[in-house]
Amino acid sequence: MIRLDPGSYLVRQGDAPTCAYLIESGCVEVLAHGAAGERLLAVLGRGEIVGEMALIDQAPRTASVRARDACLLMPITAESLEKRLAGADPVLRLVLGTVLDRYRSLLGVAAAVPLPRSAQALRSAAYAELRLEEEFAHAIADGQIHVHYQPIVSLVDDRLTGFEALARWLHPTRGLIPPASFVPVAEASGSSDALTRACLARVIADMPAMRARAERRGGHVADLRVSVNISGHDLMAPTFVRELARQVTDAGGSPDALTLELTETVLVRNPSEAADALEEARALGFRIAVDDFGTGYSTLNYIRTLPIDTLKIDKTFVQGMADCATTRSIVASTLMLAASLEIAVVGEGVELAEQHALLQMLGCDYGQGYLYGRPTPLAQALPLIEGWSAVEAPRPVISAPFA
Ligand code: C2E
Ligand code: CA
Ligand code: CA
Repeated sequence: MIRLDPGSYLVRQGDAPTCAYLIESGCVEVLAHGAAGERLLAVLGRGEIVGEMALIDQAPRTASVRARDACLLMPITAESLEKRLAGADPVLRLVLGTVLDRYRSLLGVAAAVPLPRSAQALRSAAYAELRLEEEFAHAIADGQIHVHYQPIVSLVDDRLTGFEALARWLHPTRGLIPPASFVPVAEASGSSDALTRACLARVIADMPAMRARAERRGGHVADLRVSVNISGHDLMAPTFVRELARQVTDAGGSPDALTLELTETVLVRNPSEAADALEEARALGFRIAVDDFGTGYSTLNYIRTLPIDTLKIDKTFVQGMADCATTRSIVASTLMLAASLEIAVVGEGVELAEQHALLQMLGCDYGQGYLYGRPTPLAQALPLIEGWSAVEAPRPVISAPFA
């Protein structure tokens, strides 16, 4: 962070600075110098960027920048910009690289640090991304999005309590594409709400058959609930939750049997908007689960204030518990906190009987993972409901004491 006193210079005409600055507070003046003296070109304030030409080239500057009042500025170096771009979307990098190259060639300058160029690899990655985006736009309308169901099991009495609905894209030539490849495309292209609606429509259509099998199985299976993943960004759209509820009721379903799963990011970034949307979702009958709990944020405050029914402890914690005392303590404290707030907990990624037994011992309410079943199409989920029986779990093997 750079502090500038009123009247002091950040850049003088003829300097060759190596970074731009984000203005945290105060105002700066951009000044041109000519035969007639100083001329004010611009006044820039909080939230604006000054000195961005340093990111284009490191030639001596023709203007000066002077603090009008006390200022705080955050430097942005060409190297840090390049590092950020290296991990960014290839389409963004391709377009930005091309624009910068054209701008530099207009100015007849060389780059300070060569920014990503239109290399063949980048062009191919950008092309593949754009093609996937275009194909995804048709995938929903063409019925290529399918739903697989993964069981969620009560660790109290081993009953099957429901399923998580997980989207699958059955591409006509490329086969089954996993959600990790297309959910980011859906989000980037603004069609994540269409994806949610497509999954929800499938779930509502499939639920009567699930219920019928559950009734035949009697007490071994609870009143089945189905969880649907929704993108955080969609939750912020003012009418999204209401429209989802309308879609459910119009199709003859009920929000009471559905849980909406959201990751922490959106809840932490926009706590007040998220609170309003979650309150509305709950009032309409949906339950709310926080997905991948523990992976995003160090603060747990939001779970005290937001209307949340369930926490889903991320699989990295569940799978790390047996060998790591600290991980086990994190899971145990999460369970205690959730219990005190009357929030149910699902342990995700349960693959081994030891993990199942350990979660049970720590008082976790539900488990989900390959141990109970992989995500499967409805045709295989239905016999699973009918044939459901308790998990045979040994006593937990603990190789490290609690931290
Ligand atoms: P998620 O919501 O955390 O879903 C659980 C993921 O963990 C699923 O991967 C599931 O197959 C996998 N999994 C379950 N049990 C185990 C286990 O025991 N071991 C291991 N290693 N993995 C296990 P999947 O189906 O590939 O989904 C990945 C992610 O894609 C989901 O993570 C979710 O964030 C997202 N996703 C899936 N369907 C949708 C959807 O309809 N809408 C949105 N917005 N996101 C979705
Ligand atoms: Ca989920
Ligand atoms: Ca998860």
